[in-house]
Amino acid sequence: MDSPREPIPAPERPSKLKRLGKACLLIVFVVLLVVSIAFLAAVYLTEGPDRLSDEATTVSVSNAPEGRIFVSPAVIDVTPKEPVFIAGYGANRLSTGVHDPITARAITIMNERGTAVTLLTLDLIGLHHSDAQAPMLTLPEIVLDGKSVSVLTLTCATHNHEGPDTLGLWGKSRFSSGVDPNVLRRCAEGAQEAVRAAGRYGEPCRVILATAQAPSQGISRNRRDPNLIDRTVTTLSFVSEKDNKTVATIVHFACHPETLGSKNTLLSADFPHYLNDEVEKRRGGVSLFLNGALGGMVTTDEKEESFAEAERIGRAIGTIACDSLESKDAVTLETAPLAWVQEKIQVPIQNRMFHAAARLGVVNRPWKDGYVESEVDAIRLGPLTFVTAPGEVTPKVGFQLTDMIPSRFKGVVSLASDELGYIIDEQDYADPSKFHYERTMSPGPLATTLIRATAKDAIARVTSAN
Ligand SMILES: [Zn+2]
Repeated sequence: MDSPREPIPAPERPSKLKRLGKACLLIVFVVLLVVSIAFLAAVYLTEGPDRLSDEATTVSVSNAPEGRIFVSPAVIDVTPKEPVFIAGYGANRLSTGVHDPITARAITIMNERGTAVTLLTLDLIGLHHSDAQAPMLTLPEIVLDGKSVSVLTLTCATHNHEGPDTLGLWGKSRFSSGVDPNVLRRCAEGAQEAVRAAGRYGEPCRVILATAQAPSQGISRNRRDPNLIDRTVTTLSFVSEKDNKTVATIVHFACHPETLGSKNTLLSADFPHYLNDEVEKRRGGVSLFLNGALGGMVTTDEKEESFAEAERIGRAIGTIACDSLESKDAVTLETAPLAWVQEKIQVPIQNRMFHAAARLGVVNRPWKDGYVESEVDAIRLGPLTFVTAPGEVTPKVGFQLTDMIPSRFKGVVSLASDELGYIIDEQDYADPSKFHYERTMSPGPLATTLIRATAKDAIARVTSAN
């Protein structure tokens, strides 16, 4: 006898919601796959140029002989009001507040006989050359005693790793730009405001020049090659002829501003904030920080990643700068010749990752057949000569450039009017055991050859003027 059968339960039909979820997952997977394939194709199918551009370098020169120096400074707060992707380290680091302001600082130095330089610096990781041009696009002419003055504006960045992404490399993912156009516009407008304000009121000044060495421990260190590092602090201060008060001070030193590390989410200018505060409290006027040969990999020598350490290091450099100005070796000038040279170049980009980033819109700047426009400049004020680099020169390249300068006071200013990444010596670049990370963030060895040759020419022109 057959026993009664248990009824077989009907198979459960997946709910509409579940089916929709699965379909969505499939779509996301396919989109990610397509984007990844497109990215890999863009990386591996793009050949960078294998030679220097045929396009001629454009050279502009201005020089004025011995004359009185007029100086005017300005500081504009450009801190983003909204949460932003913070530049430096990994992707997707959103800001959660503000610890100290992100600023645009400008100092215009004019020689009464018709030449001027505006040094502008922003507490940013860097700016593409096309964006660095923005602050001077609608500048009024500087007129001194009824005569038009020829001005070079250098837009520098401190290379701050705790400010908004202005290059595009630190967005939500590696495939999307972290630049908020409103934030970039605010930075450009603030920079222009600072340059305009600094170009308006010149005060006759004496110039004080000094150098000193930072101690070998506790301030800066080279993570790759501990013995190859420039710890020179070069300082220029401008003191009013009228009331003996300091109008402005410029401090030049090589170091990545990354005391606060990758976990911080509060916007800050890192150690340069405290450096400027120390100099301004002690001397008065406006302080401005220029970075030196900080590439691969000169960074802060901190005990831990903290604001306390950023303050300790910033104030220590500020104190070294102020002390040097008061030392017996400081040089005071009542008048000085002022000269500048600007050389616009076409830089070959050999790094395939950079080409891919440009194709994906992560990096947004004009490209022409694998080349980008950039510049190298040189400035001479009496016995001081600075040469600039459109990226982060390693200490080795930094010493090669400063060795070419026949002046008593000298330095290479990194991240001036551009950020092309690490500028690495060609031999080091060819050695695969060196600079693993830096090679991924470098335009390639041809850029170094071009920048060094252009710097040599600019130095020769600026030091032979007058
Ligand atoms: Zn860097």
